[in-house]
Amino acid sequence: MSEKPVRVRFAPSPTGPLHMGGVRTALYNYLFAKKHNGTFVIRIEDTDQTRFVPGAQDYIMDALSWCGIMPTEGPGLGGDFGPYVQSERKEMYRPYAEQLVENGSAYYAFDSAEDLTEMREQAKQMGMPNWQYNSVTRGSMKNSVSLSSDDVKQRIENGDPYVVRMKMPRNVDIRFEDEIRGWVVVNTNNLDDKVLFKSDGMPTYHLANIVDDHTMEISHVIRGEEWLPSAPLHVMLYDAFGWECPKLAHLPLLLKPDGNGKLSKRDGDRLGFPVFPTNWKSSEGEIFSGYRENGYFPEAFINMLAFLGWNPGTTQELFSLEELVSAFSLERVSKAGAKFDPDKTKWFQQQYLRSTDDAILAEKLAKELDGNYDLSTLTHVCRLMKERATFVKDIWTEGAFLLERPTTYDEKTVNKRWKEATTPLLKEWREELAGLEDFSAANVEVAFKSFIEARELGVGAVLSPFRLLITGQAAGPSMFDISEFLGKEESLERIDLGLSTIQALKAQA
Ligand code: GLU
Repeated sequence: MSEKPVRVRFAPSPTGPLHMGGVRTALYNYLFAKKHNGTFVIRIEDTDQTRFVPGAQDYIMDALSWCGIMPTEGPGLGGDFGPYVQSERKEMYRPYAEQLVENGSAYYAFDSAEDLTEMREQAKQMGMPNWQYNSVTRGSMKNSVSLSSDDVKQRIENGDPYVVRMKMPRNVDIRFEDEIRGWVVVNTNNLDDKVLFKSDGMPTYHLANIVDDHTMEISHVIRGEEWLPSAPLHVMLYDAFGWECPKLAHLPLLLKPDGNGKLSKRDGDRLGFPVFPTNWKSSEGEIFSGYRENGYFPEAFINMLAFLGWNPGTTQELFSLEELVSAFSLERVSKAGAKFDPDKTKWFQQQYLRSTDDAILAEKLAKELDGNYDLSTLTHVCRLMKERATFVKDIWTEGAFLLERPTTYDEKTVNKRWKEATTPLLKEWREELAGLEDFSAANVEVAFKSFIEARELGVGAVLSPFRLLITGQAAGPSMFDISEFLGKEESLERIDLGLSTIQALKAQA
C-alpha cells in the first residue's frame, strides 16, 4: 500500500498575535511538509467567537510571510479543501455531531448554565471541588441519556437550547503513539463528557478540529504540548466516526530563560526581549514588540526557533531554511521543554548580519538613515563595521564617525592618556601621513610601523591618540582601514581639528 501524501496544518485561533511558540509550531509543520514533498495548510480556528480578535488573522499571515514559511493552502491562498476558516464552514459540522448522537457516541444535553453552576456548588459543599460532567454524573443531569426519548423529542421540538456532549465510556484505556512522546495511555475515568457542539450552532474546537483534519486529509498533526490533554478525546472521536486518526506529534513547551515555567506573552516586555515575530498593537493601544521591528533578520529568527526543541545531532548551528528542511525530523524533536535564550538569539542575528553581503547591508542601512548617502559609501561603512554590530542600526550608532566628523572626544582617553609629548608626536605622525602618496590601508600600516619603530614606541602610544583624533572614540575598527576609507585630505583635516580642540581642552583643565 502506498503511503498517504503528507499534509500538515497549522491551526491558530485568531485570539491575538502569534506568540513565538506558535511560529515554531508553524515552522516545524513547514519543515516537515517540505521535507516530505507534502503540503502545508493553514486553517483558522475561530469557533470561539467570544475570543475573536479583529486583525489577528492578518497578523498571523503577515508574520508567517515575514518568516518566509508561508503555507500553500489556506484563506486567500486557495486549495481544494476550503474554506479554511472554521466560521465559514459552520454549516458542515452539525451533521457530524448528529452522526455521533445517532451512533451512540454522543448525546444531547439540555442543562442550563445555572444548572451546571448549581451542580458544581453542591458538589463543592459535599467536599468534591472538581465536579465533572461524566459517566458517573450524567445520569443525574438533563440529557438524552437520562431523559426519556419523548421528553428529549419534545425539548428539541420546543426549540430548547442544547449542546451535544461526548459520551465518554467508563474505565477504558485510550492508547495512541505520539511521534515525539511514544506511547500515551489515558484512562477515560479521567476524562469528562466534553461539549462537541454548542447551543449557538457552532462546533467546539474538538469537533471542528477533528472534522477538519479528516476532511482536509491531514496526515500528521504537529502541535504544541498544551494540546496533549485533548489528544485522547480526539483519538476517541476518530474512533467514533470510524476514521483513521492522523499521526500525532506534540511539541515541547517553550520555557522562560530561567527554565521556570512557560514563556508567556508578558515575559518579553518584562525581561526585555520580543516574544512576537512582529509588532502587535492591542485594541487598548498597547504595543507588544516584535523581532522584525527590533531589527532581527527573519533567517536568524527562524534559525534560532528551529533549535528550540530540535537539534540536528551535529555541532552545526547555522542553517538556511533549505538546510533546515533537509536536516529536520520529528525523531530529533525533544520531549523536554526548550529554554528560550535571548543572548543566543542575538548571537544568531550577529552571525547572519556578518554573513550578509556588504551591498545588501548597505541597502538596509540606507532605509534606516534619513541622510542622502550614496550606496557605495554605505557599502564601505558596512564592510568596516559589521564585525562590531548585531543589528543594522548598530552599524550606524557605532560607525557614524565614518561619515561625520567627531564633535566630542572620549573624555577618559583625553584626560588619562593624552600626555605632554602626545601633541608633538601626533603632529609628526600627521606630517608622515601628509607625505604619503599611497593612502591605502596597507601602506598607512607600513608607514605606521616604521614610524613607531624609528622612535622605539609601543603601538598604543600613537595608535590610540590617532584614533581619538580621527574618530573621537577609544575603540573601533582598524585605524588603517579607517584612514583609507576617509582618504588623506579628510584624515589630515580631522587630525588638525582634533589637535586644536584637545589642546584647548587641556589648556582649560
Ligand atoms: N486552534 C488550536 C490553537 O489555537 C489548534 C490546536 C491544534 O493544532 O489542534 O492552537
